[in-house]
Amino acid sequence: MNPKGTEMKEKILLIDDEPEIRDLLAELLKDEGYTIYQAEDGVNGLEIFKNEDMDLVITDVRMPRKNGIELLREIRESRAEVDVIILTGQSDEATAIDCLRTGAYDYLLKPVEDIDILLTAVNRALQKRTLEKQNKLLITQLEDMAIRDPLTGLYNMRQFYSYLEEEISRSARYEHGFCLLFLDIDHFKQVNDTYGHLFGDYVLKKVGRIMTSGLRSTNKLFRYGGEEFVVILTETSKQEGVLIADRLMNTIREQTFNYEEQQAKITISIGGATYPEHSTRKNELIKLADKALYKAKESGRNRCIFAENN
Ligand SMILES: [Mg+2]
Repeated sequence: MNPKGTEMKEKILLIDDEPEIRDLLAELLKDEGYTIYQAEDGVNGLEIFKNEDMDLVITDVRMPRKNGIELLREIRESRAEVDVIILTGQSDEATAIDCLRTGAYDYLLKPVEDIDILLTAVNRALQKRTLEKQNKLLITQLEDMAIRDPLTGLYNMRQFYSYLEEEISRSARYEHGFCLLFLDIDHFKQVNDTYGHLFGDYVLKKVGRIMTSGLRSTNKLFRYGGEEFVVILTETSKQEGVLIADRLMNTIREQTFNYEEQQAKITISIGGATYPEHSTRKNELIKLADKALYKAKESGRNRCIFAENN
């Protein structure tokens, strides 16, 4: 807890072979609410650094066993996104410049007399780290948005094509088979017309959830568009695929869809094709599964039909 009573978790590793300097800086930074770790040389410093998730490192340059520049180099080579502030003597500014070239964030001249300069450097480094973390999170979120369907949270159609390609090369390499299933909600237009589009959206989301929980996590699910979904059943034979498809159809058939006091029952139709029996080519597999789905629809819906063996 810092003096303001709020918890601060930022961890600073302080490395210097002179205990007086270490103690002085540690006291100052602890008063600011930081958690301080201390080491007396580069070897011990690196050990702590490897075991704890640090937010900032402040290190002396001249130390026994492993000096500050070697330490800095090893921290940079570890690809850790942690900034390092160097402590150096007045007569040693050339070394400080070397450190900046090696990737130090900043340097401070010893003895550290002006506390404000120390705190400004520390705060700036930590703020930069916070911003970098936020940016990274944002990029991950944006990347995720680009590959997922916003309504169901399943992967979108674009992802389907690249995953299918990946699965074909993976299966060829390891000599596995896999099943491709095209699923379509029966009479979905009627569901929308009868209960409204919000109910329709709820049905799509719920079907997505039922599929997700009913399938192994290694399987890949996609919303292909409209009321159509696609599943890649990895390392699955046709016999297993038929059983899985039947089970999915049953689960959905038995489910009552309840949304804002409206209730409905729905069924799905499934068309399947298998790698390598039906085809080893991406477009051919898609065409065959799609054609099988069409047949399932034509012959009365609420059923699963697989492509015929060539
Ligand atoms: Mg020293």
